[in-house]
Amino acid sequence: MPQETCFPLDAGERFDPKRLSEKGGKASAAPWDDFPAVPSGKGPVKDAGLYIHVPFCLKKCPYCNFYSVKDLDRIPAYLKSLHLELAGIAPRWSDLFFDSVYFGGGTPSLLTPGEVEGVLDAILKHFRCRQDLEVTLEANPATVDANRLKAYRSAGINRLNIGIQSFSAAHLAFLGRVHTPTEAGAALEDAGRAGFEKIGIDLIYGLPGQTQRQWRKDLERATAHGPAHLSCYLLSFEPQTPLEARRRAGEIAPMPPGRQAGLFLDTAGYLEDRGYTHYEVSNFARKQEDAPGIHRSRHNQKYWNFSPYAGAGPAAHSFRENRRWWNINSLEAYLQAAAPGRPPMAGIEVLSTRQQQMEAVYLGLRRREGLDVKALERRFGLSFYAHTLETVRALKQEGWVSFTEKGFALTRRGMLFLDAVAGALIGCLP
Ligand code: SF4
Repeated sequence: MPQETCFPLDAGERFDPKRLSEKGGKASAAPWDDFPAVPSGKGPVKDAGLYIHVPFCLKKCPYCNFYSVKDLDRIPAYLKSLHLELAGIAPRWSDLFFDSVYFGGGTPSLLTPGEVEGVLDAILKHFRCRQDLEVTLEANPATVDANRLKAYRSAGINRLNIGIQSFSAAHLAFLGRVHTPTEAGAALEDAGRAGFEKIGIDLIYGLPGQTQRQWRKDLERATAHGPAHLSCYLLSFEPQTPLEARRRAGEIAPMPPGRQAGLFLDTAGYLEDRGYTHYEVSNFARKQEDAPGIHRSRHNQKYWNFSPYAGAGPAAHSFRENRRWWNINSLEAYLQAAAPGRPPMAGIEVLSTRQQQMEAVYLGLRRREGLDVKALERRFGLSFYAHTLETVRALKQEGWVSFTEKGFALTRRGMLFLDAVAGALIGCLP
C-alpha cells in the first residue's frame, strides 16, 4: 500500500502531452513519406481532435514553460507556415472525422478574428469535420474586448477558454500576468454578451502564502459568472522557469503539500456543491440534466481517453494509436521547415505496450469515470484483476478508490494520491 506522503503536484497541472514524453529533439529531415501515416486498423475508430499551437504572448509569465515568443511581427509568417502545414498533414488524417479544434498557446487571442477565421476555413477545407465541431479559443483578458469577442463568435469559435488565473491584483502581479482583475471581469461579461454559451475559466491556486479565504474569493468571483467550465490548476514550479529560479534562490517557498491538499479538497467540495461535476482531477463542468457532459471540454478529453489528435504549429504534439510525435519548438526553425513536402517534426516515439499500460492507468485514474477494466483487458489482452485485485481491495479499504459499473475510480481523497495509486497498480501488472 502506498504511503500517505504525496500530494502530487501533477494534480493541478494543465495537461501537457509533452509531459508524457521524455524525448525532445531537432527537426526531422524526414519527408512526408516518413511521416506517421499510421493506422494499423487495430485501434478503435474514434473522432479526432485538432490542436493549433499559437506561439505568441505579450509577455512571458514567470511560471510558464509552454512554448511562446513575443515577436508579434512574426504572426503573418507563422500563419503562412501554419496553412502549409495544415494542407500537408491533412491527407494523413483523411480516414478520420474531427469533432474538435482547439486554438491553444501561447495566446491565440493575439490572432485577429479574421486570421482565426482563415485558419478555420483551411481546417474545414482540408479535414473531414463533424457538423457540430467544437471550436475552442484560449483568450487572455488583456487582448480582448466586446467587439473582438463578437467577431470571434462570428468567425466560428463556439467555446471560449479565458485565462483568468486569479481575481486578486496581488496574485496576478505575482504570476506576472498582463491583465487586471477588472479586465478579467469585463472579458467574462463581454464573452456572455457576445453569445458564447460555453465559457471556461482557468484559475491557479496554491500560490506561496495564499490563504484558503483568498482562494475561496477567487472561486466565488468565478462562479458568480456562471461559467460552463472551470479548470483549477495547482501552481507548479517548472524547470527552467523564472519562478523555479526564485524558488531555488530561496526567495519563495512552495505551499506545503498538506495545505495544497486542503485547497484541492475545498475546491472540489465547493464547486460540486454549486452544480459542477468534478470530471477530471483539475477540471469541472457545469451539470445540465438534459445533456449530461455537454459542458466538458470535448477536446481535452481526447488526451485522457486515447483518442487520436493532430497538432499543428511549433511545439504541437500529435497522437495516434501507439505513436506520439511533436513539432519543432522554435518558431524560426518551424517557419523554415513547414514547407510543402517537409513536415516540421522534431521527433516521434512509438509507445511500448508497457508505456501504453502506464498511460492508460494514469490517465484513466485522472477521470471521474476512472478505469474501464473490461476495456483495458480487451486492449492489452490481460486479466487486470488477476494481477491487481488485492491492491484494488486495499485501496478501497483505504477510501482511495470506489467501484463503478465498469471498474473503479479514485475518490476525491484518492485523487490526492494519484501518482501513488497509479504506481501501485502498474507495479502489479506483468
Ligand atoms: S500568457 Fe499563457 S502561454 Fe503565455 S506566457 Fe503566460 S501562461 Fe504562458
